[in-house]
Amino acid sequence: MVMGDRVEEVDVAVIGGGPGGYAAAFRCAELGLETVVVDAGKRLGGACLYEGCIPSKALLHVVAVLHEAERAKDFGIDFGEPRISLDPLRKWKSERVVGKLARGLAGVAKAKGIQVIGGRAAFDDSHNIRVDGDEPQVVRFKHAIVATGSAPARLPGFPVSERVMDSTAALALPEIPERLLVIGGGYIGLELGQVYAALGSAVTVVEMTDGLLPGVDRDLVQPLARRCEKLFAAIHLGTKVAALRETGGGIEAELAGKGTERFDRVLVAVGRRAATEGLGLEHTKIRPDARGFIAVDDRCRTADPAIYAVGDATGEPMLAHRASRQGRVAAEVIAGRPSAFDSVAVPAVVFTDPEVAWCGLTEAQAARENRTVKVATFQWAASGRATTLGRADGLTKLIVDPDSGRLLGVGITGPGAGELIAEGTLAVEAALLAEDLALTIHAHPTLSESLMEAAESLFR
Ligand code: FAD
Ligand code: NAD
Repeated sequence: MVMGDRVEEVDVAVIGGGPGGYAAAFRCAELGLETVVVDAGKRLGGACLYEGCIPSKALLHVVAVLHEAERAKDFGIDFGEPRISLDPLRKWKSERVVGKLARGLAGVAKAKGIQVIGGRAAFDDSHNIRVDGDEPQVVRFKHAIVATGSAPARLPGFPVSERVMDSTAALALPEIPERLLVIGGGYIGLELGQVYAALGSAVTVVEMTDGLLPGVDRDLVQPLARRCEKLFAAIHLGTKVAALRETGGGIEAELAGKGTERFDRVLVAVGRRAATEGLGLEHTKIRPDARGFIAVDDRCRTADPAIYAVGDATGEPMLAHRASRQGRVAAEVIAGRPSAFDSVAVPAVVFTDPEVAWCGLTEAQAARENRTVKVATFQWAASGRATTLGRADGLTKLIVDPDSGRLLGVGITGPGAGELIAEGTLAVEAALLAEDLALTIHAHPTLSESLMEAAESLFR
Protein backbone atom coordinates (compact mmCIF):
# COMPACT_ATOMS: atom_id res chain seq x y z
CA MET A 1 0.00 0.00 0.00
CA VAL A 2 1.27 3.50 -0.87
CA MET A 3 1.39 5.99 2.06
CA GLY A 4 -1.39 8.54 1.77
CA ASP A 5 -3.80 6.27 -0.18
CA ARG A 6 -7.41 6.75 0.84
CA VAL A 7 -8.43 3.52 2.58
CA GLU A 8 -11.99 2.28 2.90
CA GLU A 9 -12.76 -0.70 5.16
CA VAL A 10 -15.81 -2.84 4.40
CA ASP A 11 -17.24 -6.28 5.00
CA VAL A 12 -17.67 -7.03 1.30
CA ALA A 13 -16.10 -5.49 -1.81
CA VAL A 14 -17.92 -6.48 -4.99
CA ILE A 15 -15.84 -5.99 -8.14
CA GLY A 16 -18.12 -5.40 -11.13
CA GLY A 17 -21.61 -3.91 -11.17
CA GLY A 18 -23.35 -6.28 -13.61
CA PRO A 19 -26.25 -8.62 -12.77
CA GLY A 20 -23.90 -10.88 -10.79
CA GLY A 21 -22.33 -7.99 -8.88
CA TYR A 22 -25.40 -5.91 -8.14
CA ALA A 23 -27.47 -8.96 -7.11
CA ALA A 24 -24.64 -9.93 -4.72
CA ALA A 25 -24.35 -6.39 -3.34
CA PHE A 26 -28.11 -6.00 -2.82
CA ARG A 27 -28.28 -9.32 -0.94
CA CYS A 28 -25.17 -8.47 1.15
CA ALA A 29 -26.78 -5.19 2.19
CA GLU A 30 -30.07 -6.93 3.04
CA LEU A 31 -28.11 -9.33 5.28
CA GLY A 32 -26.49 -6.44 7.17
CA LEU A 33 -23.03 -6.53 5.54
CA GLU A 34 -21.34 -3.22 4.78
CA THR A 35 -20.80 -3.40 1.02
CA VAL A 36 -19.18 -1.41 -1.77
CA VAL A 37 -19.37 -2.09 -5.49
CA VAL A 38 -16.38 -1.07 -7.60
CA ASP A 39 -17.31 -0.74 -11.26
CA ALA A 40 -15.15 0.53 -14.08
CA GLY A 41 -18.07 2.60 -15.38
CA LYS A 42 -19.25 3.74 -11.89
CA ARG A 43 -22.68 2.38 -12.64
CA LEU A 44 -24.77 -0.70 -12.00
CA GLY A 45 -26.07 -2.85 -14.85
CA GLY A 46 -22.91 -4.21 -16.48
CA ALA A 47 -22.77 -5.72 -19.93
CA CYS A 48 -26.35 -6.94 -19.57
CA LEU A 49 -27.89 -3.48 -19.22
CA TYR A 50 -25.56 -1.39 -21.37
CA GLU A 51 -24.32 -3.67 -24.13
CA GLY A 52 -26.15 -6.97 -23.86
CA CYS A 53 -29.54 -8.36 -22.85
CA ILE A 54 -31.52 -5.14 -22.58
CA PRO A 55 -30.51 -3.10 -25.66
CA SER A 56 -30.58 -6.25 -27.82
CA LYS A 57 -34.05 -7.18 -26.58
CA ALA A 58 -35.28 -3.62 -27.18
CA LEU A 59 -34.11 -3.92 -30.79
CA LEU A 60 -35.57 -7.42 -31.13
CA HIS A 61 -38.93 -6.01 -30.03
CA VAL A 62 -38.65 -3.65 -32.98
CA VAL A 63 -37.95 -6.67 -35.20
CA ALA A 64 -41.06 -8.43 -33.84
CA VAL A 65 -43.21 -5.36 -34.61
CA LEU A 66 -41.82 -5.18 -38.17
CA HIS A 67 -42.38 -8.90 -38.72
CA GLU A 68 -45.94 -8.78 -37.33
CA ALA A 69 -46.77 -5.84 -39.60
CA GLU A 70 -45.43 -7.82 -42.56
CA ARG A 71 -47.41 -10.94 -41.57
CA ALA A 72 -50.59 -8.87 -41.26
CA LYS A 73 -50.71 -8.80 -45.07
CA ASP A 74 -51.74 -12.49 -44.83
CA PHE A 75 -55.04 -11.47 -43.25
CA GLY A 76 -55.75 -8.43 -45.33
CA ILE A 77 -54.04 -5.59 -43.50
CA ASP A 78 -51.32 -3.62 -45.25
CA PHE A 79 -49.50 -1.01 -43.18
CA GLY A 80 -47.33 -0.07 -46.16
CA GLU A 81 -43.53 0.01 -46.24
CA PRO A 82 -42.04 0.86 -42.82
CA ARG A 83 -40.06 4.12 -42.61
CA ILE A 84 -37.26 3.66 -40.08
CA SER A 85 -35.66 6.67 -38.38
CA LEU A 86 -32.45 5.62 -36.69
CA ASP A 87 -32.09 8.60 -34.36
CA PRO A 88 -35.41 8.14 -32.53
CA LEU A 89 -34.77 4.38 -32.45
CA ARG A 90 -31.33 4.84 -30.85
CA LYS A 91 -32.76 7.39 -28.41
CA TRP A 92 -35.64 5.12 -27.38
CA LYS A 93 -33.22 2.21 -26.78
CA SER A 94 -30.63 4.24 -24.86
CA GLU A 95 -32.77 6.69 -22.91
CA ARG A 96 -36.25 5.27 -22.50
CA VAL A 97 -35.15 1.64 -22.02
CA VAL A 98 -31.53 1.43 -20.80
CA GLY A 99 -31.57 4.83 -19.04
CA LYS A 100 -34.80 4.09 -17.19
CA LEU A 101 -33.53 0.74 -15.87
CA ALA A 102 -30.14 2.28 -14.96
CA ARG A 103 -31.85 4.96 -12.87
CA GLY A 104 -33.88 2.24 -11.16
CA LEU A 105 -30.77 0.26 -10.19
CA ALA A 106 -28.97 3.37 -8.90
CA GLY A 107 -32.04 4.15 -6.77
CA VAL A 108 -32.12 0.65 -5.25
CA ALA A 109 -28.38 0.83 -4.42
CA LYS A 110 -28.88 4.18 -2.71
CA ALA A 111 -31.88 2.93 -0.75
CA LYS A 112 -29.86 -0.08 0.47
CA GLY A 113 -26.90 2.11 1.49
CA ILE A 114 -24.49 0.60 -1.06
CA GLN A 115 -21.62 2.81 -2.19
CA VAL A 116 -20.68 2.53 -5.88
CA ILE A 117 -17.04 3.46 -6.53
CA GLY A 118 -15.92 4.24 -10.09
CA GLY A 119 -12.65 2.81 -11.39
CA ARG A 120 -10.83 -0.37 -12.30
CA ALA A 121 -10.00 -2.60 -9.35
CA ALA A 122 -6.97 -4.87 -8.97
CA PHE A 123 -6.02 -7.06 -6.03
CA ASP A 124 -2.96 -6.00 -3.99
CA ASP A 125 -3.41 -9.14 -1.88
CA SER A 126 -6.25 -11.32 -0.53
CA HIS A 127 -7.74 -8.50 1.57
CA ASN A 128 -7.04 -5.30 -0.38
CA ILE A 129 -7.93 -3.96 -3.79
CA ARG A 130 -6.55 -0.86 -5.38
CA VAL A 131 -9.04 1.21 -7.36
CA ASP A 132 -7.61 3.18 -10.21
CA GLY A 133 -10.39 5.75 -10.62
CA ASP A 134 -10.65 9.56 -10.60
CA GLU A 135 -9.69 9.37 -6.96
CA PRO A 136 -7.31 6.39 -6.52
CA GLN A 137 -8.07 4.49 -3.34
CA VAL A 138 -7.64 1.20 -1.52
CA VAL A 139 -10.57 -0.89 -0.34
CA ARG A 140 -9.79 -3.28 2.53
CA PHE A 141 -12.32 -6.08 2.83
CA LYS A 142 -13.15 -9.18 4.83
CA HIS A 143 -14.54 -10.79 1.67
CA ALA A 144 -14.51 -9.88 -2.02
CA ILE A 145 -16.82 -11.05 -4.79
CA VAL A 146 -15.32 -11.00 -8.29
CA ALA A 147 -18.10 -10.22 -10.79
CA THR A 148 -16.08 -8.71 -13.62
CA GLY A 149 -18.01 -10.50 -16.37
CA SER A 150 -16.81 -11.07 -19.90
CA ALA A 151 -15.88 -9.27 -23.11
CA PRO A 152 -16.29 -10.19 -26.79
CA ALA A 153 -13.75 -12.75 -28.08
CA ARG A 154 -11.59 -11.42 -30.92
CA LEU A 155 -10.36 -13.21 -34.00
CA PRO A 156 -6.60 -12.75 -34.33
CA GLY A 157 -5.26 -11.14 -37.49
CA PHE A 158 -8.44 -9.27 -38.43
CA PRO A 159 -8.08 -5.54 -39.10
CA VAL A 160 -8.95 -3.01 -36.42
CA SER A 161 -11.58 -0.96 -38.20
CA GLU A 162 -14.88 0.67 -37.35
CA ARG A 163 -16.32 -1.54 -40.10
CA VAL A 164 -15.42 -4.66 -38.06
CA MET A 165 -17.81 -4.50 -35.12
CA ASP A 166 -18.24 -6.51 -31.94
CA SER A 167 -21.70 -6.78 -30.34
CA THR A 168 -21.23 -3.54 -28.39
CA ALA A 169 -20.47 -1.56 -31.55
CA ALA A 170 -23.32 -3.24 -33.44
CA LEU A 171 -25.85 -2.42 -30.70
CA ALA A 172 -25.00 1.27 -31.08
CA LEU A 173 -26.53 1.06 -34.60
CA PRO A 174 -23.86 3.26 -36.23
CA GLU A 175 -25.64 2.78 -39.59
CA ILE A 176 -27.62 0.15 -41.46
CA PRO A 177 -25.01 -1.30 -43.82
CA GLU A 178 -26.21 -2.50 -47.19
CA ARG A 179 -24.29 -5.78 -46.81
CA LEU A 180 -23.44 -7.15 -43.36
CA LEU A 181 -21.26 -10.19 -42.73
CA VAL A 182 -21.96 -11.91 -39.40
CA ILE A 183 -19.20 -14.26 -38.22
CA GLY A 184 -20.71 -16.79 -35.78
CA GLY A 185 -24.18 -18.37 -35.91
CA GLY A 186 -24.69 -18.44 -32.13
CA TYR A 187 -26.83 -16.31 -29.80
CA ILE A 188 -25.46 -12.92 -30.83
CA GLY A 189 -24.96 -13.65 -34.52
CA LEU A 190 -28.58 -14.73 -34.93
CA GLU A 191 -30.19 -12.13 -32.63
CA LEU A 192 -28.30 -9.16 -34.06
CA GLY A 193 -28.31 -10.66 -37.56
CA GLN A 194 -32.11 -10.61 -37.40
CA VAL A 195 -32.07 -7.02 -36.11
CA TYR A 196 -29.96 -5.78 -39.01
CA ALA A 197 -31.91 -7.86 -41.55
CA ALA A 198 -35.20 -6.37 -40.32
CA LEU A 199 -33.74 -2.86 -40.53
CA GLY A 200 -32.74 -3.44 -44.15
CA SER A 201 -29.27 -5.05 -44.36
CA ALA A 202 -28.55 -8.03 -46.59
CA VAL A 203 -27.07 -10.32 -43.93
CA THR A 204 -24.66 -13.19 -44.60
CA VAL A 205 -23.95 -15.53 -41.67
CA VAL A 206 -20.79 -17.63 -41.57
CA GLU A 207 -20.76 -20.41 -38.96
CA MET A 208 -17.81 -22.75 -38.56
CA THR A 209 -19.78 -25.78 -37.28
CA ASP A 210 -22.32 -27.65 -39.40
CA GLY A 211 -25.40 -26.01 -37.88
CA LEU A 212 -26.73 -22.80 -36.33
CA LEU A 213 -26.75 -22.66 -32.51
CA PRO A 214 -24.40 -25.63 -32.07
CA GLY A 215 -25.15 -27.56 -28.89
CA VAL A 216 -28.91 -26.95 -29.05
CA ASP A 217 -31.18 -29.90 -30.06
CA ARG A 218 -31.52 -29.89 -33.87
CA ASP A 219 -35.31 -30.24 -33.90
CA LEU A 220 -35.59 -27.08 -31.78
CA VAL A 221 -33.25 -25.16 -34.08
CA GLN A 222 -34.88 -26.28 -37.34
CA PRO A 223 -37.83 -23.81 -37.39
CA LEU A 224 -35.40 -20.96 -36.61
CA ALA A 225 -32.97 -22.14 -39.30
CA ARG A 226 -35.82 -22.15 -41.85
CA ARG A 227 -36.84 -18.62 -40.86
CA CYS A 228 -33.22 -17.43 -41.04
CA GLU A 229 -32.94 -18.86 -44.57
CA LYS A 230 -35.79 -16.50 -45.55
CA LEU A 231 -34.50 -13.47 -43.63
CA PHE A 232 -30.79 -13.68 -44.49
CA ALA A 233 -29.12 -13.24 -47.87
CA ALA A 234 -26.92 -16.31 -47.24
CA ILE A 235 -25.91 -18.76 -44.51
CA HIS A 236 -22.58 -20.58 -44.89
CA LEU A 237 -22.27 -23.52 -42.50
CA GLY A 238 -19.05 -25.41 -41.87
CA THR A 239 -17.19 -22.32 -43.07
CA LYS A 240 -14.52 -20.10 -41.56
CA VAL A 241 -13.53 -16.60 -42.57
CA ALA A 242 -9.89 -17.03 -43.58
CA ALA A 243 -9.12 -13.31 -43.91
CA LEU A 244 -10.69 -9.86 -43.76
CA ARG A 245 -9.17 -6.96 -45.69
CA GLU A 246 -10.22 -3.34 -45.51
CA THR A 247 -10.65 -2.01 -49.04
CA GLY A 248 -11.67 1.49 -50.12
CA GLY A 249 -15.14 1.86 -48.55
CA GLY A 250 -15.68 -1.76 -47.57
CA ILE A 251 -14.39 -5.05 -46.24
CA GLU A 252 -13.33 -7.95 -48.38
CA ALA A 253 -13.88 -11.33 -46.72
CA GLU A 254 -12.22 -14.53 -47.80
CA LEU A 255 -14.62 -17.37 -46.95
CA ALA A 256 -12.51 -20.55 -46.73
CA GLY A 257 -13.25 -22.70 -49.78
CA LYS A 258 -16.00 -20.33 -50.97
CA GLY A 259 -14.16 -17.40 -52.54
CA THR A 260 -14.11 -13.72 -51.71
CA GLU A 261 -17.09 -11.42 -51.03
CA ARG A 262 -17.39 -7.70 -50.31
CA PHE A 263 -19.33 -6.32 -47.34
CA ASP A 264 -19.93 -2.86 -45.89
CA ARG A 265 -19.56 -4.01 -42.30
CA VAL A 266 -18.75 -7.15 -40.32
CA LEU A 267 -20.10 -8.30 -36.94
CA VAL A 268 -17.77 -10.68 -35.11
CA ALA A 269 -19.83 -12.83 -32.70
CA VAL A 270 -17.66 -15.85 -31.93
CA GLY A 271 -18.13 -16.09 -28.16
CA ARG A 272 -16.91 -14.21 -25.10
CA ARG A 273 -13.83 -14.37 -22.90
CA ALA A 274 -13.51 -13.78 -19.15
CA ALA A 275 -12.72 -10.19 -18.08
CA THR A 276 -10.13 -11.17 -15.50
CA GLU A 277 -6.97 -9.76 -17.08
CA GLY A 278 -5.25 -7.03 -15.07
CA LEU A 279 -7.26 -7.96 -11.96
CA GLY A 280 -4.13 -8.80 -9.95
CA LEU A 281 -5.28 -12.38 -9.35
CA GLU A 282 -1.59 -13.36 -9.16
CA HIS A 283 -1.53 -11.55 -5.78
CA THR A 284 -4.25 -13.92 -4.48
CA LYS A 285 -4.54 -17.72 -4.35
CA ILE A 286 -6.73 -17.73 -7.50
CA ARG A 287 -5.24 -19.12 -10.70
CA PRO A 288 -7.63 -18.62 -13.64
CA ASP A 289 -7.72 -21.22 -16.43
CA ALA A 290 -6.24 -20.67 -19.90
CA ARG A 291 -9.34 -18.69 -21.00
CA GLY A 292 -9.22 -16.52 -17.85
CA PHE A 293 -12.19 -18.18 -16.11
CA ILE A 294 -12.16 -18.55 -12.32
CA ALA A 295 -13.11 -21.97 -10.88
CA VAL A 296 -15.75 -21.89 -8.13
CA ASP A 297 -17.59 -24.53 -6.11
CA ASP A 298 -21.34 -24.61 -5.54
CA ARG A 299 -21.01 -21.91 -2.86
CA CYS A 300 -19.19 -19.64 -5.36
CA ARG A 301 -15.97 -20.02 -3.30
CA THR A 302 -12.66 -19.72 -5.16
CA ALA A 303 -9.27 -21.17 -4.21
CA ASP A 304 -8.78 -18.07 -2.01
CA PRO A 305 -10.85 -18.32 1.20
CA ALA A 306 -11.53 -14.56 1.26
CA ILE A 307 -12.63 -14.29 -2.36
CA TYR A 308 -15.79 -15.47 -4.12
CA ALA A 309 -16.59 -15.25 -7.85
CA VAL A 310 -19.86 -15.15 -9.78
CA GLY A 311 -21.23 -14.66 -13.29
CA ASP A 312 -19.51 -14.76 -16.65
CA ALA A 313 -16.05 -14.58 -15.01
CA THR A 314 -16.72 -18.14 -13.77
CA GLY A 315 -17.51 -19.54 -17.25
CA GLU A 316 -20.53 -21.10 -18.97
CA PRO A 317 -23.40 -20.63 -19.16
CA MET A 318 -22.76 -16.91 -19.56
CA LEU A 319 -26.28 -15.75 -18.80
CA ALA A 320 -27.51 -12.85 -16.68
CA HIS A 321 -30.00 -14.83 -14.57
CA ARG A 322 -27.35 -17.41 -13.71
CA ALA A 323 -24.97 -14.58 -12.68
CA SER A 324 -27.65 -13.05 -10.41
CA ARG A 325 -28.46 -16.36 -8.73
CA GLN A 326 -24.75 -16.97 -8.11
CA GLY A 327 -24.47 -13.41 -6.73
CA ARG A 328 -27.19 -14.06 -4.17
CA VAL A 329 -25.60 -17.42 -3.23
CA ALA A 330 -22.18 -15.79 -2.66
CA ALA A 331 -23.73 -13.07 -0.46
CA GLU A 332 -25.66 -15.61 1.61
CA VAL A 333 -22.65 -17.90 2.08
CA ILE A 334 -20.54 -14.91 3.21
CA ALA A 335 -23.31 -14.02 5.69
CA GLY A 336 -23.09 -17.56 7.09
CA ARG A 337 -26.28 -18.90 5.54
CA PRO A 338 -26.56 -22.48 4.20
CA SER A 339 -26.92 -21.42 0.56
CA ALA A 340 -25.68 -23.18 -2.59
CA PHE A 341 -25.97 -22.86 -6.36
CA ASP A 342 -27.78 -26.15 -6.78
CA SER A 343 -30.13 -25.27 -9.64
CA VAL A 344 -30.64 -28.21 -11.99
CA ALA A 345 -32.32 -26.13 -14.69
CA VAL A 346 -30.79 -22.85 -15.89
CA PRO A 347 -33.12 -21.67 -18.66
CA ALA A 348 -31.59 -20.45 -21.92
CA VAL A 349 -33.49 -18.32 -24.43
CA VAL A 350 -32.45 -17.14 -27.88
CA PHE A 351 -34.74 -14.17 -28.53
CA THR A 352 -34.94 -14.59 -32.30
CA ASP A 353 -38.01 -15.03 -34.49
CA PRO A 354 -39.02 -17.73 -33.61
CA GLU A 355 -37.60 -17.84 -30.09
CA VAL A 356 -35.74 -20.97 -28.98
CA ALA A 357 -35.70 -21.87 -25.27
CA TRP A 358 -34.60 -24.86 -23.28
CA CYS A 359 -33.76 -25.92 -19.73
CA GLY A 360 -32.38 -28.93 -17.91
CA LEU A 361 -31.27 -31.99 -19.87
CA THR A 362 -31.27 -31.77 -23.68
CA GLU A 363 -31.72 -34.75 -25.98
CA ALA A 364 -28.21 -34.18 -27.39
CA GLN A 365 -26.71 -34.15 -23.90
CA ALA A 366 -28.58 -37.35 -22.96
CA ALA A 367 -27.16 -39.02 -26.10
CA ARG A 368 -23.64 -37.85 -25.26
CA GLU A 369 -23.99 -39.26 -21.74
CA ASN A 370 -25.51 -42.56 -23.01
CA ARG A 371 -28.55 -41.83 -20.90
CA THR A 372 -31.85 -43.44 -21.89
CA VAL A 373 -34.67 -40.91 -21.97
CA LYS A 374 -38.21 -40.71 -23.32
CA VAL A 375 -38.87 -37.76 -25.60
CA ALA A 376 -42.36 -36.34 -26.12
CA THR A 377 -42.89 -33.70 -28.81
CA PHE A 378 -45.91 -31.56 -29.63
CA GLN A 379 -45.90 -29.73 -32.97
CA TRP A 380 -47.58 -26.34 -32.82
CA ALA A 381 -49.32 -27.02 -36.14
CA ALA A 382 -51.90 -28.80 -33.94
CA SER A 383 -52.24 -25.87 -31.51
CA GLY A 384 -55.38 -23.73 -31.71
CA ARG A 385 -53.58 -20.70 -30.27
CA ALA A 386 -50.58 -21.00 -32.62
CA THR A 387 -53.01 -21.16 -35.55
CA THR A 388 -54.86 -18.00 -34.43
CA LEU A 389 -51.46 -16.27 -34.32
CA GLY A 390 -50.53 -17.53 -37.77
CA ARG A 391 -47.55 -19.27 -36.19
CA ALA A 392 -47.69 -23.03 -36.64
CA ASP A 393 -43.89 -23.22 -36.90
CA GLY A 394 -43.18 -24.08 -33.26
CA LEU A 395 -42.74 -27.18 -31.17
CA THR A 396 -42.60 -28.16 -27.52
CA LYS A 397 -40.53 -31.06 -26.32
CA LEU A 398 -40.17 -32.87 -23.01
CA ILE A 399 -37.24 -35.05 -21.95
CA VAL A 400 -38.46 -37.55 -19.38
CA ASP A 401 -36.88 -40.24 -17.22
CA PRO A 402 -38.35 -43.51 -18.59
CA ASP A 403 -38.54 -45.25 -15.20
CA SER A 404 -39.86 -42.55 -12.89
CA GLY A 405 -41.61 -40.30 -15.42
CA ARG A 406 -39.72 -37.35 -13.94
CA LEU A 407 -39.21 -34.33 -16.19
CA LEU A 408 -35.51 -33.85 -16.87
CA GLY A 409 -35.58 -31.17 -19.54
CA VAL A 410 -37.86 -29.01 -21.67
CA GLY A 411 -37.31 -27.36 -25.05
CA ILE A 412 -39.63 -24.94 -26.82
CA THR A 413 -39.38 -23.15 -30.17
CA GLY A 414 -41.91 -20.55 -31.26
CA PRO A 415 -43.03 -17.02 -30.46
CA GLY A 416 -43.16 -16.56 -26.69
CA ALA A 417 -40.94 -19.60 -26.01
CA GLY A 418 -38.85 -17.41 -23.70
CA GLU A 419 -41.86 -16.86 -21.45
CA LEU A 420 -43.24 -20.40 -21.77
CA ILE A 421 -39.96 -21.99 -20.66
CA ALA A 422 -40.59 -20.72 -17.11
CA GLU A 423 -43.21 -23.44 -16.60
CA GLY A 424 -40.73 -26.06 -17.82
CA THR A 425 -37.97 -24.69 -15.57
CA LEU A 426 -40.23 -24.80 -12.53
CA ALA A 427 -41.35 -28.34 -13.42
CA VAL A 428 -37.76 -29.61 -13.80
CA GLU A 429 -36.52 -27.77 -10.71
CA ALA A 430 -39.44 -29.07 -8.61
CA ALA A 431 -38.88 -32.63 -9.93
CA LEU A 432 -42.42 -32.83 -11.29
CA LEU A 433 -43.58 -35.84 -13.28
CA ALA A 434 -44.74 -35.58 -16.89
CA GLU A 435 -48.09 -36.71 -15.48
CA ASP A 436 -48.24 -33.56 -13.34
CA LEU A 437 -48.07 -31.44 -16.50
CA ALA A 438 -50.65 -33.64 -18.23
CA LEU A 439 -53.08 -33.34 -15.31
CA THR A 440 -52.67 -29.58 -14.82
CA ILE A 441 -55.44 -27.65 -16.57
CA HIS A 442 -53.91 -25.11 -18.97
CA ALA A 443 -56.15 -22.30 -20.23
CA HIS A 444 -57.48 -22.68 -23.78
CA PRO A 445 -56.48 -21.46 -26.28
CA THR A 446 -52.90 -20.75 -25.14
CA LEU A 447 -49.46 -21.80 -26.27
CA SER A 448 -48.87 -23.17 -22.75
CA GLU A 449 -51.27 -26.02 -23.61
CA SER A 450 -48.42 -27.38 -25.74
CA LEU A 451 -46.63 -28.49 -22.53
CA MET A 452 -49.75 -30.33 -21.35
CA GLU A 453 -50.31 -31.84 -24.82
CA ALA A 454 -46.70 -33.05 -25.07
CA ALA A 455 -47.03 -34.67 -21.63
CA GLU A 456 -50.41 -36.26 -22.51
CA SER A 457 -48.84 -37.90 -25.55
CA LEU A 458 -46.78 -40.08 -23.17
CA PHE A 459 -49.93 -41.66 -21.74
CA ARG A 460 -51.78 -42.63 -24.92
P1 FAD B 1 -21.10 -8.16 -16.61
O1 FAD B 1 -22.52 -7.86 -16.88
O2 FAD B 1 -20.16 -8.33 -17.75
O3 FAD B 1 -20.59 -6.98 -15.67
C1 FAD B 1 -19.25 -6.88 -15.29
C2 FAD B 1 -18.98 -5.47 -14.83
O4 FAD B 1 -17.70 -5.45 -14.23
C3 FAD B 1 -18.96 -4.43 -15.96
O5 FAD B 1 -19.72 -3.31 -15.60
C4 FAD B 1 -17.47 -4.08 -16.08
O6 FAD B 1 -17.28 -2.74 -16.48
C5 FAD B 1 -16.99 -4.30 -14.65
N1 FAD B 1 -15.56 -4.62 -14.53
C6 FAD B 1 -14.83 -5.51 -15.24
N2 FAD B 1 -13.56 -5.54 -14.80
C7 FAD B 1 -13.49 -4.64 -13.78
C8 FAD B 1 -12.46 -4.23 -12.91
N3 FAD B 1 -11.23 -4.74 -12.97
N4 FAD B 1 -12.73 -3.27 -11.99
C9 FAD B 1 -13.97 -2.72 -11.90
N5 FAD B 1 -14.99 -3.10 -12.69
C10 FAD B 1 -14.76 -4.05 -13.62
N6 FAD B 1 -27.81 -12.94 -21.03
C11 FAD B 1 -29.07 -13.30 -20.76
O7 FAD B 1 -29.31 -13.96 -19.75
N7 FAD B 1 -30.11 -12.92 -21.57
C12 FAD B 1 -29.91 -12.20 -22.69
O8 FAD B 1 -30.86 -11.88 -23.40
C13 FAD B 1 -28.58 -11.81 -23.01
N8 FAD B 1 -28.33 -11.09 -24.11
C14 FAD B 1 -27.04 -10.70 -24.38
C15 FAD B 1 -26.79 -9.95 -25.53
C16 FAD B 1 -25.51 -9.55 -25.84
C17 FAD B 1 -25.27 -8.73 -27.08
C18 FAD B 1 -24.44 -9.89 -24.95
C19 FAD B 1 -23.05 -9.41 -25.24
C20 FAD B 1 -24.67 -10.64 -23.81
C21 FAD B 1 -25.97 -11.06 -23.53
N9 FAD B 1 -26.25 -11.82 -22.40
C22 FAD B 1 -27.54 -12.21 -22.14
C23 FAD B 1 -25.20 -12.23 -21.46
C24 FAD B 1 -25.20 -11.32 -20.22
O9 FAD B 1 -25.02 -9.98 -20.64
C25 FAD B 1 -24.11 -11.74 -19.27
O10 FAD B 1 -24.25 -13.11 -18.96
C26 FAD B 1 -24.18 -10.94 -17.97
O11 FAD B 1 -24.08 -9.56 -18.21
C27 FAD B 1 -23.06 -11.38 -17.02
O12 FAD B 1 -23.14 -10.66 -15.85
P2 FAD B 1 -21.86 -10.43 -14.91
O13 FAD B 1 -22.39 -9.73 -13.70
O14 FAD B 1 -21.13 -11.68 -14.75
O15 FAD B 1 -20.90 -9.46 -15.72
P1 NAD C 1 -21.94 -18.27 -28.97
O1 NAD C 1 -21.03 -19.22 -28.30
O2 NAD C 1 -23.39 -18.34 -28.69
O3 NAD C 1 -21.79 -18.41 -30.55
C1 NAD C 1 -20.56 -18.28 -31.19
C2 NAD C 1 -20.67 -18.99 -32.51
O4 NAD C 1 -19.55 -18.65 -33.29
C3 NAD C 1 -20.68 -20.51 -32.37
O5 NAD C 1 -21.75 -21.02 -33.12
C4 NAD C 1 -19.32 -20.93 -32.91
O6 NAD C 1 -19.35 -22.19 -33.51
C5 NAD C 1 -19.07 -19.83 -33.92
N1 NAD C 1 -17.66 -19.57 -34.22
C6 NAD C 1 -16.62 -19.52 -33.37
N2 NAD C 1 -15.48 -19.19 -34.04
C7 NAD C 1 -15.83 -19.01 -35.33
C8 NAD C 1 -15.11 -18.66 -36.50
N3 NAD C 1 -13.81 -18.40 -36.47
N4 NAD C 1 -15.79 -18.57 -37.66
C9 NAD C 1 -17.13 -18.82 -37.72
N5 NAD C 1 -17.86 -19.17 -36.63
C10 NAD C 1 -17.22 -19.25 -35.45
O7 NAD C 1 -21.33 -16.82 -28.67
P2 NAD C 1 -21.91 -15.38 -28.95
O8 NAD C 1 -23.02 -15.43 -29.92
O9 NAD C 1 -20.73 -14.52 -29.22
O10 NAD C 1 -22.49 -14.98 -27.53
C11 NAD C 1 -21.64 -15.03 -26.38
C12 NAD C 1 -22.40 -15.43 -25.17
O11 NAD C 1 -23.21 -14.35 -24.71
C13 NAD C 1 -23.38 -16.58 -25.40
O12 NAD C 1 -22.76 -17.84 -25.31
C14 NAD C 1 -24.36 -16.37 -24.29
O13 NAD C 1 -23.85 -16.95 -23.12
C15 NAD C 1 -24.39 -14.87 -24.14
N6 NAD C 1 -25.58 -14.32 -24.85
C16 NAD C 1 -26.80 -14.71 -24.43
C17 NAD C 1 -27.92 -14.23 -25.08
C18 NAD C 1 -29.28 -14.66 -24.61
O14 NAD C 1 -29.36 -15.18 -23.50
N7 NAD C 1 -30.33 -14.47 -25.39
C19 NAD C 1 -27.80 -13.37 -26.16
C20 NAD C 1 -26.53 -13.00 -26.57
C21 NAD C 1 -25.41 -13.48 -25.90
